[in-house]
Amino acid sequence: MSCILGLTGGIGSGKTTAADAFRALGVPVVDADAISRSLTAAGGAALPEIVRVFGRAMITPEGALDRARMREAVFRDPDARARLEAILHPLIARMSEEEIRRAAAEHDLVVYDCPLLLEVPGLRERVDAVLSIDVAESLQVARVMARSGLTAEAVSRIAAAQLPRAERIARSDWVIFNGGTLEDLREAVADIVRRLANAGR
Ligand code: ATP
Repeated sequence: MSCILGLTGGIGSGKTTAADAFRALGVPVVDADAISRSLTAAGGAALPEIVRVFGRAMITPEGALDRARMREAVFRDPDARARLEAILHPLIARMSEEEIRRAAAEHDLVVYDCPLLLEVPGLRERVDAVLSIDVAESLQVARVMARSGLTAEAVSRIAAAQLPRAERIARSDWVIFNGGTLEDLREAVADIVRRLANAGR
């Protein structure tokens, strides 16, 4: 039986960097964000239902979801957000499940990179263990600002809407504190891969 390891963490914590470290070690990573983007790209499986619920105005001339417009709509209206999530979340869960099953047929360890793993009901049950990437808020703000050009206030606001750090840690089986260098993060990932391999023997 393969181990399905859920990978999560707040904005800018280092999930993507950690996922890349797993890939570099030959561990397959199923990426919930990439699946979500594919569902709303031109021809994506979520688009017919999005058009039915929100209208054609949400679709760009190229036939993809107009992300800026949708972001604006859900930012102002929690009901609209709930309706969008009711369309996307079951599709993301189903496609993730399929990808995880395919990867698990060939690998002892599969990582499920899912930012909302501990927030969306029912997702935690789909993985065997949870790895959270944790980072101090000051570093989180600095790293996201450097990457995205968001203001410190905007980053803090996004972080405040996510699960509090202490709660995320309490609900995790493994935690990597990403306060060191990129090399430290890669080494911590390699350590977990080694431990899981030993535990599976
Ligand atoms: P998001 O939730 O916004 O997608 P994330 O959790 O996937 O973010 P990353 O994209 O991996 O986080 O990291 C955020 C930024 O911080 C990136 O620019 C990354 O290169 C940088 N970073 C991550 N870990 C470290 C580290 N240990 N030292 C220096 N920079 C780091």
